[in-house]
Amino acid sequence: MNFIPYGRQDIREEDIEEVVKALKSDFITQGPRIELFESVLGQYTGAQFASVSCNGTAALHLACLALGVGPGDWVWTSPVSFVASSNCALYCGAQVDFVDIDPKTFNMDMDALRIKLEQAKKKNRLPKVVIPVHLAGLSCDMKKAQQLSKEFGFKLIEDACHAIGGDYLGNKVGSCKYSDIAVTSFHPVKNLTTGEGGCCFTNSSELHQKICMYRSHGITRDCEQMTEPKHGPWYYQQLALGFNYRITDIQAALGLSQLKRLDENIAVRRQIAERYRKNFTDLPLRMQAETEGTQSAYHLFIIQVEPEKRKALFLHMREAEIGVNLHYIPIHTQPFYQNMDFANGAFANSEHYYQRAISLPMFPRLSNEEQQYVCDTLKKFLT
Ligand SMILES: *Cc1c(COP(=O)(O)O)cnc(C)c1O
Repeated sequence: MNFIPYGRQDIREEDIEEVVKALKSDFITQGPRIELFESVLGQYTGAQFASVSCNGTAALHLACLALGVGPGDWVWTSPVSFVASSNCALYCGAQVDFVDIDPKTFNMDMDALRIKLEQAKKKNRLPKVVIPVHLAGLSCDMKKAQQLSKEFGFKLIEDACHAIGGDYLGNKVGSCKYSDIAVTSFHPVKNLTTGEGGCCFTNSSELHQKICMYRSHGITRDCEQMTEPKHGPWYYQQLALGFNYRITDIQAALGLSQLKRLDENIAVRRQIAERYRKNFTDLPLRMQAETEGTQSAYHLFIIQVEPEKRKALFLHMREAEIGVNLHYIPIHTQPFYQNMDFANGAFANSEHYYQRAISLPMFPRLSNEEQQYVCDTLKKFLT
């Protein structure tokens, strides 16, 4: 058996042909494929606006900028996520805090969020933005998050980097029915790839305009946004300090081709998850709960075992050429974040999670034979 990674892109001949067509066309950056990709992505999720950028981290940063996050503001997210979920707020000069996870869903615990909001209100330290993370592709309880955002007056960015292709209460994740902005990533391990890439979804034309402006140096070519009439056809204005976070037409060509197979690939991911669940019913391990009305996009398949066994199991799987992984080390325990005064034990469920978690191989091209080998290798260790 060859090495089995935990995740792998699915690139096919038809994808390659589309990229070659883009390379042979007049545009390799800022061409027609980017706009088409954005419009097809918007149709797919149901959001009115989609703006693609060079990676998911840049998209998170753009989302924070568009919502006006800056010095003096607080942004809250989940400790069990990739560091980009909170770094995006630090880029804007804001301060970061965390909300603990629900031990069953591994996602932000909305009851813990309410308690923390009530405490923050008394201290006059309410967050400007909260960023729930849809871990492994399972949507957070966004309906509750939205109720809280109205009650306490903060904005919501969904970190949907794992979750494109998933459903929540009859809508695709990214519809922004319950949030201001949803962000996804097109990194090769994610459910849809452009090499590097990301996207902000929103239903607000004002936020969309800001995202597009910050994505390209803070520059606009739209006369409606300018402070004076255009001097001529060459004219543009810089209205804010933005970045170059653009994506290329070559990448958009890949994304457009990938998007055609997204639903098919999500269905395969869900079948793989189903087989794991069937195989594991009698084993001493826990899996992420499936919540009502939610269809996970299964970017990852995470299990939890006894903390005393976890490292040995990890090594046992790696020795068998199975590329297990760990998502994630709680962000507040990273040395960089330790300067910010987060006590150990501050987010007990997240630290409990970290002691037990392992991610198993999960990608559309994982064969039945490979998956059986993963299950058998795991069983041999645990029974
Ligand atoms: C991948 C990921 C990001 C960052 O996306 P990049 O495209 O790698 O920059 C942010 N948040 C989460 C939860 C991710 O998994």
